[in-house]
Formats: sequence, C-alpha cells, structure tokens
Amino acid sequence: MSGEAKHVSVAIVGGGIAGVWLLRILSDLGINAWLFEAEGLGAGQTLASQGMIHGGLKYQLHAGRDGLGESLAHMPDFWRACLRGQGAVDLRGAETSSDHYYLFSPGGMANRLTAFLGSRMIVGRAEKCSRDYYPEALRHNDFSGSVYQLQDVVLNVPSILNALTSTCAHRCFRGSAKVDGVHNGQITSLFCNGEHITADCYVFCAGAGNDALIADSPLAYVKMQRRPLKQAIVTGDLPALYAHVASPLSGTKPRVTITSHESDAGTTWYLGGALAETGTTRSDPEQVSFTRSELVELFPWLSFDGCTFDTLDIDRAEPDQLSGGLPDSPFVEKVGNAIVCWPTKLTLAPLMADFALSHIKPLIAGNTSSTLPELEVAKIARMPFG
Ligand SMILES: Cc1cc2nc3c(=O)[nH]c(=O)nc-3n(C[C@H](O)[C@H](O)[C@H](O)COP(=O)(O)OP(=O)(O)OC[C@H]3O[C@@H](n4cnc5c(N)ncnc54)[C@H](O)[C@@H]3O)c2cc1C
Repeated sequence: MSGEAKHVSVAIVGGGIAGVWLLRILSDLGINAWLFEAEGLGAGQTLASQGMIHGGLKYQLHAGRDGLGESLAHMPDFWRACLRGQGAVDLRGAETSSDHYYLFSPGGMANRLTAFLGSRMIVGRAEKCSRDYYPEALRHNDFSGSVYQLQDVVLNVPSILNALTSTCAHRCFRGSAKVDGVHNGQITSLFCNGEHITADCYVFCAGAGNDALIADSPLAYVKMQRRPLKQAIVTGDLPALYAHVASPLSGTKPRVTITSHESDAGTTWYLGGALAETGTTRSDPEQVSFTRSELVELFPWLSFDGCTFDTLDIDRAEPDQLSGGLPDSPFVEKVGNAIVCWPTKLTLAPLMADFALSHIKPLIAGNTSSTLPELEVAKIARMPFG
C-alpha cells in the first residue's frame, strides 16, 4: 500500500443502496467519486430489505409534507421509468421480483381493511381485486377476506445493485473506512485498509456504520436511532406471494409483510411487518414457533409441514426521531466538507442522493485526475437468506 494520500473529488463511505445510487449519479455526471464498503455491496440493510418500492402520498400528506408526499407518490413510477431505461438512471438489466403487491385481510375483517387503507401506513392508490385476480396463495374456497392490489413494485435488489454499478464497479473498493483527521471543522482524510484518502467532500452512507463515522467528524451532534427487527424466513413448496396482511391485531401496521424469493430449495417467504417488530421480544425458537402459528392461522389451506424456518436479526438505522418511530423523509446533513445521509427507505435513495448532490456540487474543487487506491474491488454481497 502506498503511504501517499490519494485524492478524489468525492469519497463515499458505505455501499448500500444510498452509497451505490449516489456513486452512480456522480459517475453519470462525470464527477470523480470512490466508494468504500466494509463487507460487500448491499451487505447491510439493503439486501436484507423486502425490496418494496412504496408510493407515499397518504403517508407523507399525513406528516404535513405536501411537496415531499407528492414526490413519494411517484416513486413507483420513478423506479419503473429507470427500469425501462427512461428514468434518471438507466436500470435496464435490473429486474423486479414482482410488478404487483397486494394487501389482504383474513375473512370477516373487511371494515378493518377499509380503516387500514385510510391509515398512515398504507399509501397511494389501491384497487380492489376480483377473485380471478387473487394471488395464487389466496385462491382457495376457504379464503373469504378481501384483496387489494397496491401500486407498489418489488425489486430484485441484487440486480438493482448490479445495474447501478455496471458503469462504476471499478470505483467501489473493499475496506472499512474511518475518519483519519479533522482540522478547523473539515475532515482532512480517511483511512481505509492502509490507504490514506483525501477528498473535496466526504459522504457517509454507511447505514448503522454512520454512528461511528460521525462521532469522529464535525457531524458528531447528529444522532442515529436503530429500530431492531427479527425477520422470519420460511422455505419450502410455497406459492410466490407479495402481500401485506392487514389485521386489527397489529393496528395500522401490517400484521405480516411477505415477499418471495426462489432458490434451489424452493420458494422462500421473507416475513416482516409487525411479526418482525414484535419478534425482537422473542428468542429465535419462539419467533419460529410464533411465525408457524401465524401462517397456519392465516393460510389454513396451505401446508407448512415440509418447510424450514429461520430468523434474521437486522436493525433499521436512521436519524434519531424524538418519537422513536419511522422518519418521514430521507436525511442529509452537511457540516464543512462532511455529509451524512440516511435514505430511511430503499424507495427514497434517489431522493436522498439528489439532496446530497446539491450539497456536494459546491464543494468540488475540480476533477483532477487521480491514481486509484490499491484496494480490492468490492463485490455485491450474498443475500442474507434464501
Ligand atoms: C428488514 C428490512 C426490510 C426493509 N424493507 C424495505 C422495503 O421493502 N422498502 C424500502 O423502501 N425500504 C425497506 N427497508 C429500509 C431500507 O432497506 C434501508 O432504508 C436502506 O437499505 C438503507 O440503505 P443504506 O445504503 O443507507 O444502508 P445499508 O444498506 O445498511 O448500507 C450501509 C453499508 O455501509 C457499510 N459500512 C458500514 N460502516 C462502514 C465503514 N466504516 N466503512 C465502509 N463501509 C461501511 C455496510 O457494510 C453496509 O454495506 C427495510 C429495512 C430492513 C432492515
């Protein structure tokens, strides 16, 4: 490794959706940027997410953010345009896992479903489905609930990371970065695997890792919160399903949020929602047993006997909220040449990157040519389940 510092216009720390999206738009603009990722691209929340791109009109309007709410309502269309190669970033080659997302209530809860649709959690447009259009898992005579189709789209997240880095993979380096020095309220350098990196601007997109990075930076006053989840993973001979289950038992939150992943072992149902939020109070075996009982109650016509059950502990990392709840918008804060970002949702990473870009542009002194760091290129991480 060279002892001499290497210089770049923008040094991004963290290779989840936030860092990778930002790297891509900087690269598309011809701005010299490098990204440093401790494990593998997507290794944090991004590959552990459920990949849903939510519309957000109602949710955001409730929060009193009309302009932002309008943007959120368009996020599924924004992402779809990118996937067609007609959007802000060309994501042709990336895939969706499902173009449809459903919301259903178990039988006898139609009124609850109406209340749920009007709640803060469920967003945008929803169309009631006729039985012919039910997802396969609900096409059974014993199912007497109601089903709505939402405008949400579900992304195949590894394919999104692959498409985003198709033009800039050589700028993603593997290594855990830390702040190397601060002088007069400015970061002077980063240190990563023996390399000293200087930049016009340092952008922390490290999810939960932002906590340690900002503590050593002029942004130390910014506070982070973690919201822990215990997701459940069920694999076997199951029909693919992408759906929220509405229930009075979980108030305005989905009782369970289901996305599906295919593998040689069968179909994996990846389960979040209230099941994962309350799951943090249960041990792994208790969560497995709770998940099994939820599924048997919700889908009595399906057999889960041959399925394997597992759990995944993962924290959502976000800017601190007084309420401890979900932040309403992406967070970007700048002091001197340091910027910290949390998209707060995969859906909102493009919006976060646009906010960050408006802070980055005035800091760039010029696109000087630079020698690349002698670091291994970061690859896309493996999915944490399935
Ligand atoms: C279970 C779950 C389900 C979710 N489902 C959805 C959903 O369906 N739809 C939606 O819109 N949002 C969803 N989210 C939220 C979404 O996943 C996150 O908001 C988003 O992925 C955050 O991306 P990020 O890039 O900021 O952070 P991360 O994805 O956590 O990436 C941070 C990266 O930084 C790296 N890193 C950390 N410290 C350092 C360091 N010092 N040096 C170098 N690298 C470092 C980590 O290894 C990691 O790869 C979900 C979140 C969870 C946990």
